[in-house]
Amino acid sequence: MDFTVFDKPGAKVKLASISEKPPRGLTQEHAREEFETLGQELFDLQDLLWGSRQHSVLVILQGRDSAGKDGAIKHVVGSLNPRGVHVTSFGAPTPEELEHDFLWRVHRHAPRRGEFAIFNRSHYEDVLVVRVHDLVPKSLWKERYDHIRDFEELLAEHGTIILKFFLHISRGEQKKRLLKREEDPRTSWKLNAGDWEERELWDEYTEAYEEALSRTSTEMAPWIVVPADAKWYRNLVVARAIADALRPHRKAWQQHLDEQGARKRAELEAWRRGRR
Ligand code: ATP
Repeated sequence: MDFTVFDKPGAKVKLASISEKPPRGLTQEHAREEFETLGQELFDLQDLLWGSRQHSVLVILQGRDSAGKDGAIKHVVGSLNPRGVHVTSFGAPTPEELEHDFLWRVHRHAPRRGEFAIFNRSHYEDVLVVRVHDLVPKSLWKERYDHIRDFEELLAEHGTIILKFFLHISRGEQKKRLLKREEDPRTSWKLNAGDWEERELWDEYTEAYEEALSRTSTEMAPWIVVPADAKWYRNLVVARAIADALRPHRKAWQQHLDEQGARKRAELEAWRRGRR
């Protein structure tokens, strides 16, 4: 499987040189089988995460309009136990949110231990749409990369496993998706002239994404560029990357639960003995 991971600050990110398509040779049928196997594994890993309360997971999904953030969430969450999963969507900030620092509204949705949080858009909008549309002075958003790195480091130190996905679609695929929405009356509710306006700023967004990815990629909070022109491959990559990040913890989580089980059993036995 083929996807690009950035895990060092200052990495050279050139989105034009990363394919938006699935690799040749991988069939949709094979991908579906693998996705199902990964889904079962994710379900089991989430159960251990929940029970052992040693870590939390934060998945951040970013991408242009129609890149498939909702679809990716639907498929990945579909593999998980809804208990302990929280999805938060970040739209334009409210007046109250604008009166606080940009991380204020985000921090309160960070997952507690045992939880699996998914962000549909995130604090990255504050260096993407905000930068492209000049919503705050440059002197302010320029500082945000460092604030974001520090914030994510803080979460990671508290045991949060962070994965950031950029759903990478091509310009042609976006046009196809936006037009398809118009053809089908069942998707008319999604129509939005703003999507076409944002599309005209394609290169400005590319630049903003490249700088964001370059400056905020770290080992503890890597960026994964997901080839997203094919939905089935996008889902597979996201599931695979999450499973890859959680798998190394399986043994420790299981051990923690086993120790807890032994302790609880001893307590119960002592209680029974006391009643005799
Ligand atoms: P989506 O396009 O994510 O499926 P949507 O079109 O239904 O969602 P909302 O979820 O209401 O719309 O809001 C998304 C919009 O909010 C996007 O255009 C995004 O750029 C904007 N947005 C998110 N965060 C910020 C921010 N910090 N400042 C300004 N605009 C923001």
